[in-house]
Amino acid sequence: MKKVSIIALVLLLLVACSGADEVASRPTEVATSAPSPTEAVITDPTAAPTASESDATPVEMPVEEGTDSTETVPPITACNAFLDNTTIHCEADTAFVESDGLPTTHDMMVGIVSWQQQVPLPQAYTGDNAWQIPLAPELSDNPISGANDLFRGAIAVNGVPIFNALNNRGDDAYLAGELDQWGGHSGRGDDYHYHIAPTHLQDIVGIDQPIAYALDGFPIYGLTEPDGSPVVGLDEYNGHFDDDGNYHYHATETYPYINGGLRGVVDYQNGQVEPQPQALPVRPAGEPLPGAEVTAFSQTGSNAYSLQYTLNNETYTVNYTVENETYTFEFIDPAGNSTVETYTP
Ligand SMILES: [Zn+2]
Ligand SMILES: [Zn+2]
Repeated sequence: MKKVSIIALVLLLLVACSGADEVASRPTEVATSAPSPTEAVITDPTAAPTASESDATPVEMPVEEGTDSTETVPPITACNAFLDNTTIHCEADTAFVESDGLPTTHDMMVGIVSWQQQVPLPQAYTGDNAWQIPLAPELSDNPISGANDLFRGAIAVNGVPIFNALNNRGDDAYLAGELDQWGGHSGRGDDYHYHIAPTHLQDIVGIDQPIAYALDGFPIYGLTEPDGSPVVGLDEYNGHFDDDGNYHYHATETYPYINGGLRGVVDYQNGQVEPQPQALPVRPAGEPLPGAEVTAFSQTGSNAYSLQYTLNNETYTVNYTVENETYTFEFIDPAGNSTVETYTP
């Protein structure tokens, strides 16, 4: 009996000890893993899956499209603000913006009442000739005014370059009637560009998105703040700081219309930001044609265009094509006489 009870006692102690070890070692495992299995077991068969799904979707998704969603929308940068007719690639601290400089968001040229005999030709703003937008813009100690220099200071989100308000003779191009209904015209290299803010792009991108980026990297918004509130406190460059201390520019309906200079750091040489894409002229520049009003413009083929203008109540036509780097212009006078010029730069 004694032997049995001693053995039993020893066995009991062994069991108790190993049990105590188990109990002692378990709590950490138990503490972390226990609650979720029990919750899962309780809620799984009944409400858990449907409740979590139906809770999540109706609250956030159907409310509005892409305007004020707070959680999943990535921050707007030059890497994602441009439209589909452009090609963007972002490397290190720079967004490279490629385009042919022609808008797909609107027509061109109609509305010009002081035509300079230039037409829109596709440009090769690609590769080394792409637009470069700094992704981390910095404020400069020496901002640059656009009043006298800085012919090109921004690029619209549809890939069209933006020049300052003054034309190549120093006049306000908008007030001089040189701009079309969308604030653009073609320059001496037959390069289409805006001279005022393309506020019509707000209808496409929304007022909470930039319509352009200045070449210093700061965004340009339209005539209101991104939340629709009025714009107050613009500096001489048409910019100011938002509540988070971030600088941005705005469009205005009067001079300077667009960013009136650059408050950000840029490499500035000979009156312009470097590096900067170049337009490639294919023919000698035209002269201003006083009284010439552009009345119609259309793309008549994949690489064919037609422009009509009136002068002294008579109608003239310019048809032109761009094929295999050959530029062919046909000028038709009011009597129907045709003159053809061909350029192969
Ligand atoms: Zn111009
Ligand atoms: Zn603002």
